[in-house]
This record gives sequence, C-alpha cells and structure tokens, in this order.
Amino acid sequence: MEERTTVIAESELRAQQEICQTIKEYWQSRGRTPTAFVDTYGCQQNEADSERIRGMLDACGYAMTDTEEGADCIVLNTCAIREHAEQRVFGNVGALVHTKRRHPEQKIFLCGCMMGQDHVVDKIRHSYPHVDGVFNPHQMWRFPELLYNVLKNKKRVFAVEHSAGNIAEGLPVVRQNGLKAWVSIMYGCNNFCSYCIVPYVRGRERSRQPEEILEEVKGLLAQGYKDITLLGQNVNSYGKDLGLGIDFADLMAQIAELPGDFWLRFMTSHPKDATKKLFDVMASHDKIAKQFHLPFQSGNDRVLKVMNRHYDSKQYLSLVDYGRSVMPDLTLTSDVIVGFPGETEEEFEDTIKLIERVRYDALFTFIYSPRKGTPAAEMPDPATKADKNRRFDRLVETQNRISQEIHGAYVGKTMRVLVDGKEDNLLTARTEGGRLVRFEGPDTFLGQFTHVKIVDHTTWSLVGQLPE
Ligand code: SAM
Ligand code: SF4
Repeated sequence: MEERTTVIAESELRAQQEICQTIKEYWQSRGRTPTAFVDTYGCQQNEADSERIRGMLDACGYAMTDTEEGADCIVLNTCAIREHAEQRVFGNVGALVHTKRRHPEQKIFLCGCMMGQDHVVDKIRHSYPHVDGVFNPHQMWRFPELLYNVLKNKKRVFAVEHSAGNIAEGLPVVRQNGLKAWVSIMYGCNNFCSYCIVPYVRGRERSRQPEEILEEVKGLLAQGYKDITLLGQNVNSYGKDLGLGIDFADLMAQIAELPGDFWLRFMTSHPKDATKKLFDVMASHDKIAKQFHLPFQSGNDRVLKVMNRHYDSKQYLSLVDYGRSVMPDLTLTSDVIVGFPGETEEEFEDTIKLIERVRYDALFTFIYSPRKGTPAAEMPDPATKADKNRRFDRLVETQNRISQEIHGAYVGKTMRVLVDGKEDNLLTARTEGGRLVRFEGPDTFLGQFTHVKIVDHTTWSLVGQLPE
C-alpha cells in the first residue's frame, strides 16, 4: 500500500478526459444519448463526490436521469458509517437484478466508503454478479477508464487498492443546486476515533492548496452561488499537512473577504482542533454564517477517552462558552452517539446533562453501530438493545423539547434568509443558522436574500411572513 498521499498528475487526468471523449464517440456511433442515474448515501462528502461522478458521466456524453429503470449506467455512492446504511445499500443493489434484467445493457457501479472495506468488496464479488464495477474513494478519479473497460471488454472491474489517499484537482463537476455549493477543502481523517470506519476507508488527512480552493470559490460566486460550505471530515485541521503557515481560520478569512453577497459555512469540525482564533475570525466576518456543527459524541469523560476523542466535557464546554461569548447568536448543532460499548446509565446521564447545559439548536443522534476493524467493535458491550433504544428515545425527546423552545424564541424576530425553493405554494428559505423557514411570497424571491418576520414554529421549522 502507498503510504504517502499523492497529487494525481495532470497528464493522468488528461488521459481520463480523453477516455471520456472516446466513450462519447462510442455512444454517438450508436446514434443515441445514454442515460445515467447516480444515487448517494451518507454525508455531504459523498454528495460532493457524486457531483464529480456526474461531471465525469456528463463528459462521457451521459444525460442524468432520476430513476434506475432503463438507465444505461447506475452508480451507487455508498456509506459505511453504520450498519443500517450498509443494509440499505445491499437491499437496493439486490433489487437492481430486476432492473438489469429488463435492460441487459445496463452497467452497474458501486463506489464510496463501503467499497473501502475488503469484506464488502468480497461479498459484492461473489454474491452480486450483476454489479459490473467497484471502486473505492481513492480510485474515483479513474472512473472514466473503469467505465470504458466495462463497456469495451464486457468484463467486471474492481479498483479497490488501498492507499493513504490522493488529491485529484480539476475533475469535471455537475452540481444539482444552483445556489448552494459544497467545496471539499481536505480529504481523509487522522483521528481514528475508536468507533469510526472513516480513517480506514478515506485515508490520511490531506489539504488542497489554498489557491485552488480560492479559485473554485471565486468561480462559484461568479456563477451566482450564494451559500458555500467548505467540507472535510475534520475541516478545521486544514493546512496542517501543507507547511505553508496557513490554517483553517486563515483560509476562512481569505474566502470571506472575496467580493459578493454570500454565506460561508463549514463542516465537520473536531473539538480538539477548534481554536479561539477560528471563533474570532467567524465573529469578525459578516459573510461567515454564525453556525457551528461541533460533534461532542458523549458527555462522559471516561467514554470520551475510550472513544479516543482527545478532549473532555469541560474543555468542550469552555469552547462552546467562548464561541457564544464572541457570537451571542451562534447556532450550535452536534453529533452524539448513545450505547457506545460499556456506556452505563450514569454515563448516559452525563450526555443528557451536557445537552441540557449547551441547548443545541439541533442534534444528529446515533445509536452505536459496531464497524468491523475498528477498536470499539472488539470492546465488551453488555447493554441490551432495549437499553440502548430507551436511551436513544430519551435523548431525542430531550432534544426535541429544546429545539421547540429555541424555535419558539425566534417568533417575533425578523431574520435574513436565503430563499432556496418552493413547496406546496410556499417559498422555502434558510436562516444564517441553517433553520428552515416557510413563507408566502412571489417567485421573484427565489435565489435571493430577503428578510422575513417569524410568526410561528414547529420542532423542525419556522413559519415566516414578509414584513409589511
Ligand atoms: N468527522 C466528523 C466528526 O468527527 O464529527 C463526522 C464523521 S461521521 C460521517 C458523522 C457522525 O457519525 C459522527 O460524528 C458520529 O457521531 C457518527 N458515527 C460515526 N461512527 C459511528 C458508529 N460506528 N456508530 C454510530 N455512529 C457513528
Ligand atoms: Fe470518524 Fe472521528 Fe475522523 Fe470524525 S474525527 S471522521 S468521527 S474518526
């Protein structure tokens, strides 16, 4: 296995572009436009990768479709974070036997984090013969070549070699939304939290060059994008591997100083890398949304230690307090796991206490799921499924009550929102903190910033009105 991260050479990327052209000509010679369906599971990083996969398919002459039925190429971009996500993928891949039977020329590819696990790849190889191609996240840039091999040789391809990871600049991209854009600024993770599969399947942390990122954002702003999210598994350790003296806060400041009316966001941060400097930069730039997704995972210090998180609850809370001291309106969200191996009732109570103390706007709540190959999967886990479900329900109830209360406090306030869509005759918009607002208004507001008065709320969203 290659131990160092690499930047894919321009010549290699050019060779892939040439293959795209060959595939395009192949379809032109057959006198029709092929169609492709890309289905994405999991996190925003996968969404961003799927935009690149669509970009490559577009360069190969494929038109996108929103159904697997009749598509000439299907790509499932999978997630390995929990067993439930994997089961859904296996179920959906199994069902594709029937779509392929109705359209035998269909080519089926699987990619994403699940394909970074050898036991999953073996299962696909042996039990899902209708799958034509498999590639892991490190091999994504080679997709045109893999597609060509499948089309030409009519043989299955498996590009699943492990590596420390690479960076491929300039892959074509087809974004689905004209207003909000994901920009990956770094890849991989070095943290090895004891429950998590990500570092094994996405490789080591590697940052893109700042000028490449700035150019991409400038291009997006010129195209009219107004909501930019910088992405990384551990986004706030950006720059550590570059040795350029630029850190994540510096990068944020440089982007926030670009001309134009836009919001800049980022995810996901690790508390051990969240610096006061970052909070200060957020506070001093209007274009940086006052929103922080800061996963805490558990409120108990013993559990945090076994999770290998490198902070305790006191350090976490002091970060939250500092952030709020410089940004009183900061919207805080987080991830939390219940039922980590060995978690006792008392330790779970510490998680509830932390939630009550912080009062998050929203929480992403997970029941611990053992991931093969991670240290936590080998730990004794005496709590029953029923115990874990009960803790989970209590967590969700606690957070729902807090979210309701926080939403209630918005009523009467006038807030700046970005109008991003329409549902059932109501415009939908997001606040700076990412809250969903629905209100009546003309279609001319679509894609624009405006102000709305909040007149009502539910657990999940706000009801707005245009000011008189
Ligand atoms: N890198 C980010 C971080 O550290 O916060 C997010 C990574 S992961 C895609 C998103 C969330 O999934 C994590 O924050 C964690 O709460 C949850 N997660 C990861 N592994 C899990 C597991 N084995 N079981 C349950 N939840 C898990
Ligand atoms: Fe997984 Fe931890 Fe890395 Fe997040 S920081 S991706 S939870 S190992």
